[in-house]
Amino acid sequence: MSIDTSGTWWVGSEPSDIAGFLVAYAPKGYEVHELRFAQCNCGSLAFLLDADDNESVARRTCTSCASEHFICDSGEYWNDAEPERLKCIECGSESTNVGVGFSIYPDRGGIRWLYVGTRCTACGVLGCFAGWKVGTSDSMNLLESV
Ligand SMILES: [Zn+2]
Ligand SMILES: [Zn+2]
Repeated sequence: MSIDTSGTWWVGSEPSDIAGFLVAYAPKGYEVHELRFAQCNCGSLAFLLDADDNESVARRTCTSCASEHFICDSGEYWNDAEPERLKCIECGSESTNVGVGFSIYPDRGGIRWLYVGTRCTACGVLGCFAGWKVGTSDSMNLLESV
């Protein structure tokens, strides 16, 4: 895995580079402790991504089989959202890898914050498309619903 930081945007050579990007992106006090990558039930790692940062929701749609999945707790709030579709800032592609970084309270006492990280499947540009506070103690299961 390698990240090219020489240009305007960080560029990752593979999906796992989202991890390095989010670790650098997350501010002090909200550090990323764990990361999970989104993978469709069909095996695909490429998705369309719709998110509304104000309503704290994101949904991914598989580019191979069109399955939709609400990321973490997004399904509960989706009806109030006005989501926007991710489009690569560099090349305009809508297809992206998705990795979610989690900031976790001490002693694994719940999720403090999460970051929806992306990597353009066409040109490799890395980004964080949405992020929101979770802040509840019973939220560790969100690690398994990326
Ligand atoms: Zn799929
Ligand atoms: Zn791109």
